[in-house]
Amino acid sequence: MRLPLRTLVVSFLLLLILTFAVSAQLKQDAPPAAPILGFTPTHAAAQHALETSLQSIPSPEKAREWLRTFTAEPHPAASERNNQLADFVAEEWRKQGWEDVTLRRYDVLHSRPRSVSLEMTEPVQFTASLREDAYDADPDTKNPAVSAAYFGYSASGEVTAEVVYAHSGNPEDYDVLRKNGISVKGKIVLVRYSNPYSYRGFKALTAEREGAAALLIYSDPAEDGSTRGKVFPDGPWGPESHIQRGAITYDYIVPGDPTTPGWASVPGAKHIPPEEARSLPKIAGLPLSWRDAKPLLENMNGPDAPKDWQGALPITYRFTGAVKVHLKVDMDTSMQPYTVVEARLRGSELPDEWVLLGNHRDAWAFGAVDPSSGTASMMELTRTLGELKQRGIRPRRTIVVCSWDGEEYALTGSTEWGEQFADDLKKKLVAYLNVDESVAGAATTAGPEGLSFSPSAVASLAPMLVEASKDVRAPSGKSLYQAWRATARRDTNASTPPLDSALVETRIGSGSDHTVFLNHLGRPVINLGFTGDYGVYHSMYDDYYWMARIGDPSFEYHVALTRIWGIVALRLANADVLPFDFGFNAAALEKFLRELEERNKIAPRRLALKRLHSRIAEFERAGNLLETALARDLLSGSASPEKIQRLNEHLMEVESNWLDPAGIPGRPWFQHLLYSSRYTYAHLEFPGLTEAVEKQDWKLAGEQAALLEKAVEKNTRLLRSAQSSWEKNR
Ligand SMILES: [Zn+2]
Repeated sequence: MRLPLRTLVVSFLLLLILTFAVSAQLKQDAPPAAPILGFTPTHAAAQHALETSLQSIPSPEKAREWLRTFTAEPHPAASERNNQLADFVAEEWRKQGWEDVTLRRYDVLHSRPRSVSLEMTEPVQFTASLREDAYDADPDTKNPAVSAAYFGYSASGEVTAEVVYAHSGNPEDYDVLRKNGISVKGKIVLVRYSNPYSYRGFKALTAEREGAAALLIYSDPAEDGSTRGKVFPDGPWGPESHIQRGAITYDYIVPGDPTTPGWASVPGAKHIPPEEARSLPKIAGLPLSWRDAKPLLENMNGPDAPKDWQGALPITYRFTGAVKVHLKVDMDTSMQPYTVVEARLRGSELPDEWVLLGNHRDAWAFGAVDPSSGTASMMELTRTLGELKQRGIRPRRTIVVCSWDGEEYALTGSTEWGEQFADDLKKKLVAYLNVDESVAGAATTAGPEGLSFSPSAVASLAPMLVEASKDVRAPSGKSLYQAWRATARRDTNASTPPLDSALVETRIGSGSDHTVFLNHLGRPVINLGFTGDYGVYHSMYDDYYWMARIGDPSFEYHVALTRIWGIVALRLANADVLPFDFGFNAAALEKFLRELEERNKIAPRRLALKRLHSRIAEFERAGNLLETALARDLLSGSASPEKIQRLNEHLMEVESNWLDPAGIPGRPWFQHLLYSSRYTYAHLEFPGLTEAVEKQDWKLAGEQAALLEKAVEKNTRLLRSAQSSWEKNR
């Protein structure tokens, strides 16, 4: 039986042109078009032709224009400018031909500063500027709308107390202080942003638990400043006055509006009192530039801190001594509207299967990298897909696109939207493709191999992502796949590039808008982006000048990201069989489990994991067998659309089966059994099991292992029955 045409052809003429182009290409290229995972040969050929068109549309000049528009003014959540940009996005999407363009409003407990101040009162008087310097080279840095230093969801408070330096502010740092006889109770702790990145909200919770009166976090030049290389405006790193703003929400416990944990903040929704919100900090804090932190550090006269606590300032870092400061933070925590902009291209054949694209719009200041590079890539992608639609080419499945709001505060817009449409999303969402920062690195300092392509994806989608990269042109002129291998080799100092199976990061933490879809709704996600030298994160210097002079002056990386994002989206939207690879998925699970055992040296008498290993091995076999059967039948083009549809329903269900409605112990909102994040936002695999093992709670660990065994077993059965129904009536 013939499969339906994958393009809805509005005009007969266009159909003729397309058919002619595809068949002409097939005739010219003696071996038929390269296969694509999940596509029959005929459809793979049409898809390749479509991807050639898709890649020819995005333009660096347009990407630059989008970026300029989005970075013209600071646009934090709930600001007038960010709301204007929501209307702008909606208007542009309508012009581009997108359908059902809708503004979704959420009434959210917001947080913004009324006033902040910090003075040292002893041993010398000093007033912190809490501001960033302007530079003549970059007029945007003189914009009076740029905020002072503040933390989203900091508690309000006023305190005068002694300062203690607590290194990175992680629990082990407080252990060091304790060993040295130093308590932070009632004191103000001064800590560093740290490398590797640890979410500031974890530093806040840790300081709160230790009984500190307030928290200051500063950017040491060792982490993101002059120690790393040239600083703004001459290079990508942070200058002396740069301030890393950010939220300190405990959204690793539950993200979104802190007063609607687990449900959507649609107008009129019930809100809990802020005092009951688990994700709201009770501690006050401020971020500091190193220029504002240095007088505090250098006036201490207590015992020297250990060697690994010394930073890059030309002083001796001490634990404590003599320094007293007066801190005042007055926050406005009123309800404010957030706006998610939503639009779709209705699928020609499977309108009730959705591929979702998204990027957040709100920024701490101008947000050129974070998030407007992603926004520029997204607007070029929506323009491209809109243009293909005008040419009569529609995706088979529906493509939905969202411009999120309030990501910086608590992943709020995407979380509320995901909670509002949970039932639909659980049934219909094939995958969510997130781009937060499309270009978070400086091409001008990246060397000949260029910026690193650093995507992450659930393991089941990793192979299709690698395959897609082979057909994308990278800025170096090579394929994105070749560029990816070269930078991966460079970044790991290896003599050879990694195997394809190791290219995609299949460990996924939190810290962006994929969280609700993966961890709460059990839908597969991919994050895409380029990375490199970048030291101005969440400061006002993350602006248009930084991107246009230092980051991506040619805007080719913005376009490359548009291309890979578009190709992955269209492959998921147009595939005959959804390109999940569960054999690969199982192999990743086996790796995660071995790592857990080795890291924690788990004795079998404490916790028996043998059965889980064998369940995973069975899942791997079932995945691989199904894969082989599918590849054979798709190649022969013999499967009926009805049969393919039944199979796809099974495949969608596998991903849902990783959800445990009870959630992981202590964090019921996080329901995925394979993926969660640590409180630092770092990735965390088998979250319930891993946290139990790390607490040495062997009873709980046994229960969590049993839950995993059950889920893996259920999915093995599902794959086997999918295969037997597939092979019936062959
Ligand atoms: Zn972001």
